[in-house]
Amino acid sequence: MTQPSKTPASAAVNVPDERGYYGEFGGRFVPETLVPALDELEQAYRAALNDPAFMARFADLQTTYTGRPTPLTHARRLSEHLGGAQIYLKREDLAHTGAHKINNALGQALLAQRMGKKRIVAETGAGQHGVASATACALLGLECHVYMGSVDMARQRPNVFRMKLLGAEVIPVESGSKTLKDAINEAIRDWVTNVRTTYYLLGSALGPHPYPLMVRDFQSVIGIEARQQMLDQAGRLPDTCIACVGGGSNAIGLFHAFRGDDQVDLIGVEAGGHGVNSGEHAARFADPERGRPGVLHGTRSFVLQDADGQIMNTHSVSAGLDYASVGPEHAYLRQMERAFYTLATDDEALAAFKLLCELEGIIPALESSHAVAEVIKRAPTMPKDAIILVNLSGRGDKDLDTVMQVFGDQQ
Ligand SMILES: *Cc1c(COP(=O)(O)O)cnc(C)c1O
Repeated sequence: MTQPSKTPASAAVNVPDERGYYGEFGGRFVPETLVPALDELEQAYRAALNDPAFMARFADLQTTYTGRPTPLTHARRLSEHLGGAQIYLKREDLAHTGAHKINNALGQALLAQRMGKKRIVAETGAGQHGVASATACALLGLECHVYMGSVDMARQRPNVFRMKLLGAEVIPVESGSKTLKDAINEAIRDWVTNVRTTYYLLGSALGPHPYPLMVRDFQSVIGIEARQQMLDQAGRLPDTCIACVGGGSNAIGLFHAFRGDDQVDLIGVEAGGHGVNSGEHAARFADPERGRPGVLHGTRSFVLQDADGQIMNTHSVSAGLDYASVGPEHAYLRQMERAFYTLATDDEALAAFKLLCELEGIIPALESSHAVAEVIKRAPTMPKDAIILVNLSGRGDKDLDTVMQVFGDQQ
């Protein structure tokens, strides 16, 4: 027998270690008062995973409330139009509340309930995680407080109203740039102050250990379902999986089930905004000048920062990708060359948005449109019997105002 000359990339993806590190990324960079709270959270999480009643309740709500499994759709007209690989869409846009975020919000809200914590704090940027948290809290009878930058509140009024309808309190944040980064700071501050009674429901695969792990696990249902659906519908695994990467939760949720399938390429797509050279983007990996390892919000990962280490303001047409750091597991998968990362600009995402509307009758979220933009570049270079699986992380109803401003409403 010949030995493989190269270690398969999947051999290196058994992470995190017991301290929450993904190679040199991840960990816990928090004030000392939070260490016992994070220990308590980790223990409670591991106990819940081993509690059949907890897992059964989670599975039941995923089916009877969220609407899982979400379908896998063969995008025949888009595939035909691009003239290359067959494209399959994992339809997280059809999950309750219109995106994948409910998977994590529901899992963590159930965990909070199991821990006996009745007061939930969460942060939100565009309001999508706030809405998912408020939804899960309404369902389970938990008190929900959502921190949101005042600039974001003005930009995202329908989501502020949704959260209030769902019974949540929305707390405006006036510090810093009054956006997501500042909202996370305030949510952490609240948690430090009220740690005995309060659960912090973090919205992406970010933050101090065990959050990146928990969020990955709660989102991994995306890839577990999609992998089986590919086998059922196409008789084989895809050649390539593609997902957009903000904090990284929908992407890691898709990638995780495929981590051991070395023949499957994993591609993450960051927000290229007005282009890397403009400095107005959220491409933490693609901008070697500004994207460097650093610590933000309790974890070590790639962070957009200036020469003095000040966190940079980011830009994307899609609010959900507009964040200066990225989940530590993505930094690790990239370093191990198990996953690869690229970007799509605002213009490319908007063109992809339009194409999916017209060819498939699906209005995608602008975040998801970044993943579709990479499909548009890649599919024509692949043979017709190749398969691309793309995660459609959410639906675009929330983005109609933005899109109307760009295209005008004449069409
Ligand atoms: C929030 C959001 C994202 C980005 O978050 P990740 O944690 O990177 O998945 C992507 N798509 C949609 C629809 C979102 O609402």
